[in-house]
Amino acid sequence: QPATPKDYLERLNPEQREAIETTEGPLLILAGAGTGKTRVLTTRFAHILLTGRARPYQILAVTFTNKAAREMRERIGALLGEAVEGLWLGTFHAICARMLRRHAEYVGLTSSFTILDTDDQLRLVKQLMAPYRVDPKRWPAQGMLGIIQRWKDRGLTPERITPAEDDDYADGIASRIYAEYQARLRAVNACDFGDLMLHVVEILRTRPDVLAQYHRSFRYILVDEYQDTNTVQYLWLRLLAKREGAPSNIACVGDDDQSIYSWRGAEVENILRFEKDFPGAAVVRLERNYRSTAQILAAAAGLISHNSGRLGKTLRPGRDDAEGEKVRVIGVWDSDEEARVVGDAIETLRTQGHALSEMAILMRAGFQTRPFEERLVARGIPYRIVGGVRFYERAEIRDCLAYMRVLAQPADDLAFERIVNVPRRGVGATALQKLQLEARQRGISLTGVVSALLAEAALKGRSKDALGALMEAFSRARETLGAEGHVVAVEQLLEDCGYLQMWRDDKSLEAPGRLDNIKELIRALVDFGTLGAFLEHIALVTEGEETAGEDKVNLMTLHGAKGLEFDTVFLPGWEEGVFPSQRSMDEGGLKSLEEERRLAYVGLTRARKLATVLHAGRRRIFANWQDSIPSRFIEEIPSQHVAISGQTPFERRQATAAPSMFASGPLLARKPMRDRNVPSRPASPTPDIGVGERVFHQKFGYGVVTDVDVDRLQVLFEQTGEKRVMASFVEIVS
Ligand code: ATP
Ligand code: MG
Repeated sequence: QPATPKDYLERLNPEQREAIETTEGPLLILAGAGTGKTRVLTTRFAHILLTGRARPYQILAVTFTNKAAREMRERIGALLGEAVEGLWLGTFHAICARMLRRHAEYVGLTSSFTILDTDDQLRLVKQLMAPYRVDPKRWPAQGMLGIIQRWKDRGLTPERITPAEDDDYADGIASRIYAEYQARLRAVNACDFGDLMLHVVEILRTRPDVLAQYHRSFRYILVDEYQDTNTVQYLWLRLLAKREGAPSNIACVGDDDQSIYSWRGAEVENILRFEKDFPGAAVVRLERNYRSTAQILAAAAGLISHNSGRLGKTLRPGRDDAEGEKVRVIGVWDSDEEARVVGDAIETLRTQGHALSEMAILMRAGFQTRPFEERLVARGIPYRIVGGVRFYERAEIRDCLAYMRVLAQPADDLAFERIVNVPRRGVGATALQKLQLEARQRGISLTGVVSALLAEAALKGRSKDALGALMEAFSRARETLGAEGHVVAVEQLLEDCGYLQMWRDDKSLEAPGRLDNIKELIRALVDFGTLGAFLEHIALVTEGEETAGEDKVNLMTLHGAKGLEFDTVFLPGWEEGVFPSQRSMDEGGLKSLEEERRLAYVGLTRARKLATVLHAGRRRIFANWQDSIPSRFIEEIPSQHVAISGQTPFERRQATAAPSMFASGPLLARKPMRDRNVPSRPASPTPDIGVGERVFHQKFGYGVVTDVDVDRLQVLFEQTGEKRVMASFVEIVS
């Protein structure tokens, strides 16, 4: 039964109707979270079709994620009463890939071009840099690739790089490498992810006939999450929307308070520029929030008011029924208790009949999911990781586990196969096949056969060196295992075999997160007496996780939660150094702190009925417990909208000095970071650790360096005396 216009417009407020019915001319919908922006966009799409203004393929609709595209397609289908085919609806990249297949010849490709993955990209950049003989330690290929990607984000082809735009990376060869890189991709009929946008923009810029064709076909353009578009996406939209002699029917919805992707080149200024780019643009503001209770809204509004330079929007509760509960803030003793409290709360809600799929745990960083995953598994509560991979299924975690398995059990061939060429050691597929054959013939394991061949001097050249070094690393780690225990042995192994270095050298955006995941893994390792006990635990946690049925708790990052909503939202880890993240506090100044605050705002506004913020009094930094202090964001939530329970050790200390912490004044006292005696930066392979330096080691605590030997240090630890440790696992304490 197709919806009648009456049906779909009646359930909207006047401003939303205006935003839907103003179909002609440019339109900016600027509104806070949960005000129905996405709903307006979806309804507008249906409205244009139902009123006969355009055919389905004449509307271009851009979403931020594939999930959002799917949802919008379903909603449109529901509004129209039938599924529609041939929609131009998807993410920027998905739509551009489709366009590029049509016009590939204009950029020297054919329509069957392949899209490279990061490994391929990197290999190519390395090859291209080799003849220039720049020092790869000083100028790693990853850095070069990063520069190329940023140029692509900004819509700059090699020809468009002016001397002023050029980068002095690697003695100024960046723009040359970029040109060669593009030429090489063309020669092999390939492009990378960034090229999908860049090539299409270039085609639209240089081929008026192609542009005119899209101008004729796209009568209406709809863009969700406009605050997070980067320059090349913006150029693309502007090219398509500015039609000669016809109005720009472009409708963008956005919320400057939810701009959280500046680290990926997004420019919130694009919103501010909209009225200049499209003169005569109508601006509609939506002020009623239909998602959250009044309490949650007031809490979120109070928090975000601490940001400066906002466009300023009013947000009023749109549901009259819902005063709701205050935002719960729970202080827990430590990170273990945090996971327990959340697990208990979810169980309670479940027994009260609430659907698990209406609950979400939203964290600042991907690695934070682990304790919650374990807790949920232990309680038998099904969960899903949205927009990410379960902790123990992540590539870097699987790699590390494979190293540990070989360490614990040298005959574990599957594990050995996984890591024998990770990082790349020149032991390719054919070399591995030969080893496998040999192992079968001799009836021994792969590591057994490698050792035998090394002993027999039967290996030559590169594989001899590579496999020799790998076996060396394992036998050294095995010695350490006996002498210093499993934690140190694993750290040493991952360092020795070059695995950690591989991620440090990787300048992609995900690399720091992967290193964090590995640290989190080591942290988990500390809880177990032996390597064997740990690996058995992992086997149990990971086995049979996929439970049937759709009713699962959602775990995801705050970034991944954009645009989504849940009845109940848990927001753990609201502590200084976790959220706001240490990185944002160290590097970014006010700007990145404000982006963190927007992220907190996104988090709170995902909740329909109940938001629970948690902070732990101690959190493990590697093997040692560190006191942590509540996030400044907690005290920025107006206290009348907060219900506090639990106390952290820190608060207990404070409470003796001031009987009521929460009575007046700043909600929670804050110590400056410098006084916290916490190593503020993740470890790096640091040549600048010298004798006499005060350092912190995850297992042995604080100490003073007494000797340095390349990557090993002799340290006199306060608690445990003199020890030899890997330099990369200590952090300098100032
Ligand atoms: P975000 O900024 O988080 O992306 P949004 O502005 O896109 O939020 P929507 O997701 O479109 O907001 O809407 C939030 C919720 O409010 C949805 O559940 C939606 O169905 C509901 N909603 C929107 N408008 C109305 C309305 N007029 N009456 C009732 N419910 C509404
Ligand atoms: Mg939305």
